[in-house]
Amino acid sequence: MDEFLSIVVPAYNEKENLPILVQEIREGASATDLPFEIIIVDDGSTDGTTEELCRLAREIPELKAVILRRNFGQTAAMKAGFDKAKGTIICSMDGDLQNDPKDIPLLVKKIQEGYDLVSGWRKDRKDPFWSRKLPSKIANWIIGRTTGVLLHDYGCSLKAYRRDVAKNLLLYGELHRFIPVLAQQYGAKITEVPVNHRPRIRGKSKYGIGRTYRVILDLLLMLFFQKFATRPLQFFGLTGGLMAILGAGLEAYLVWVKLVSGEDIGNRPLLIFGMLFIITGVVLLGIGLLAELVIRTYFEASGRSIYSVREEIG
Ligand code: UDP
Ligand code: MG
Repeated sequence: MDEFLSIVVPAYNEKENLPILVQEIREGASATDLPFEIIIVDDGSTDGTTEELCRLAREIPELKAVILRRNFGQTAAMKAGFDKAKGTIICSMDGDLQNDPKDIPLLVKKIQEGYDLVSGWRKDRKDPFWSRKLPSKIANWIIGRTTGVLLHDYGCSLKAYRRDVAKNLLLYGELHRFIPVLAQQYGAKITEVPVNHRPRIRGKSKYGIGRTYRVILDLLLMLFFQKFATRPLQFFGLTGGLMAILGAGLEAYLVWVKLVSGEDIGNRPLLIFGMLFIITGVVLLGIGLLAELVIRTYFEASGRSIYSVREEIG
């Protein structure tokens, strides 16, 4: 198979990091011996990142720039990069040099061994403890217990994907942090490798305590959807179907009584019960079908319009 590697980087106000990052990625990607492209998505930066990126993209043949119309958030910016990527293997990482492009060959090798998603594990994470490391330890614990995907570090941006996995992830909100869970729902074969992590030296982190609640909300909603809402038909359908069958059984019994004994059945309470069960059961089945339709429309609609592009270079 002719493999091609795409490296996708969302960048929001990372002007000073970009030139160094692009250089490091070129070195890291060259070590894989695969042809590659670098896609940097400017997520509505206001510090001159846009101009710097356009300048670099005109100079460096492997570099492509996607400029979004405003700040859509890291998840949407990643999705914009995935949508543009041509690679058979896609790699994502942060634009602030916290991930180390030297790890790219390591991740790519695992994909070539047959995994669909290889997630970086920041064994020695260089971020503040209380505001970042502790909340993500808690989130990692909850995700591990509730979803059955067992990783140490779900939220590390440095990841490699088989093309179809990256392209089919239903990303919105802050869900990039839970990509391994989405990938498992898709059926991906997942593994984890320890990677280097460095402190942020230039520019500022975009996540304070203020953004953490959105992350938690997205986590809870996703877990809820995964458990119930993506399978409404199973819930309503089973209840409705059983009720309808029970009702039909009751009515059949009454018909049999009428035929055998000639008894009048018009005043038997069972008659009403049976009819209620049948009607309610059929209605519930119908609701289940409708719910299924709503869920699908919801996911498709939210998957489609999470960003808009102003300009592309390369
Ligand atoms: N980022 C983005 N849009 C945003 C916030 C962040 O594209 O609205 C990018 C940011 O430029 C960086 C990556 O996402 O490349 C991770 O952000 P950051 O380093 O601030 O997160 P942290 O490392 O603190 O989790
Ligand atoms: Mg960072």
